[in-house]
Amino acid sequence: MNQHQRKEEASRNAFEEAKQYIPGGVNSPVRAFKSVGLTPIYMDRGEGSRVYDIDGNSFIDYVGSWGPLIMGHAHPAVVDVLRDTAVKGTSFGAPTLLETEMAKLVCERVPSIEVVRMVNSGTEATMSAIRLARGYTGRTKIIKFEGSYHGHADSLLIKAGSGIATLGLPDSPGVPESVATNTIAVPYNDLESIELAFERFGEEIAAIIVEPVAGNMGVVPPAVGFLEGLRRVTSQYGSLLIFDEVMTGFRVDLHCAQGRYGVTPDLTCLGKVIGGGLPVGAYGGRREIMEQIAPAGPIYQAGTLSGNPLAMAAGYTTLSLLTPEVYAQLEERGARLQAGFERNSRELGIPLTINRVGSMVCPFFTEKEVVNFDTAKTSDLSRFTSYFAGMVHEGISVPPSQFEGMFISAAHSVEDIDATIEANYRALQSL
Ligand code: PMP
Repeated sequence: MNQHQRKEEASRNAFEEAKQYIPGGVNSPVRAFKSVGLTPIYMDRGEGSRVYDIDGNSFIDYVGSWGPLIMGHAHPAVVDVLRDTAVKGTSFGAPTLLETEMAKLVCERVPSIEVVRMVNSGTEATMSAIRLARGYTGRTKIIKFEGSYHGHADSLLIKAGSGIATLGLPDSPGVPESVATNTIAVPYNDLESIELAFERFGEEIAAIIVEPVAGNMGVVPPAVGFLEGLRRVTSQYGSLLIFDEVMTGFRVDLHCAQGRYGVTPDLTCLGKVIGGGLPVGAYGGRREIMEQIAPAGPIYQAGTLSGNPLAMAAGYTTLSLLTPEVYAQLEERGARLQAGFERNSRELGIPLTINRVGSMVCPFFTEKEVVNFDTAKTSDLSRFTSYFAGMVHEGISVPPSQFEGMFISAAHSVEDIDATIEANYRALQSL
């Protein structure tokens, strides 16, 4: 496992060349490893729990393409179905049978969804759900939580987590003031702030959008009663409750976070796992609301590649592989990893707060309980940066940011988990 001889010349050259043609050398910011000051690792291939880079190094991978690969890299069933589907044509711009099969499966598994529309990314899903909520309620304002990330649509890039937090950027230039003023950002897990916002703006608020487990400021579980409180307040004021389950959907439970916590939103956004590693997003909810979408209703939303056959095949196959047994295994591996990290932290006297929900795990370099963005930011980021370098050195791929969680997949064996715990010990020891 220990990769004292890790080579990186090929990755370094590849990055230098890419920077000439791609902004910052990458097609999504966090991939550039800017905040951790390392050369990004150019991947060649993945298999099961492992990825292999173009310098010939291998890593046990906990990035999992940032969440989608819950069954591991290049799962044989997914690869086979992609091959079989591709030879029949990659896109038609006309309906196919698999789209209905996929929609049926999503409706069966997700408690709040009666009707679902496929899109191509999580960003499209949340952007469309916000438009729908505004169109349906006839209201303009939305509420989001500080440190949550819902993709990069203008109205949602306010006090955002994920790459925005990682790069320490203020709210993005290019978002018009007129758009920003309609987004109210409040602290996660803080029902009092929600109640105050509704007392002041209640009749103008179209929706609350919330990650039912926050996964873009590290991993932050919902406090007891928080999601129920959001449900109560939105119902009271005639606003919609939108669960952004792009990350948590089919990640934390067979019935998503809403199944795990027993709170039913009006609309749900999905992505990541439902694409099985291909570009997919979706939004769905109550029929009466969803049928305001064109062509059933007047609110417009469309997509040249939406419901793409390859994406549907990979997603449907992935969802079909997800059984209660898979989630039980993910829970058990997650608990083992957490216990191991906690043991290391105690033995070495290095304070860590480890938050975990199922297979989403995040070690924060702080003694404080992490319940929102402010407490997540008490983490010692320079320690995180050294730790990240240590883990890479040990042959473990973890997210290059304190504000992202690790994802365990069904392909991670007990041996992988134990090797990761040992690597974590050495990485902590070298701080
Ligand atoms: N919502 C959440 C909760 C996410 O985690 C993400 C991406 N990490 C998005 C939306 C945006 O999805 P995409 O990157 O596919 O546009």
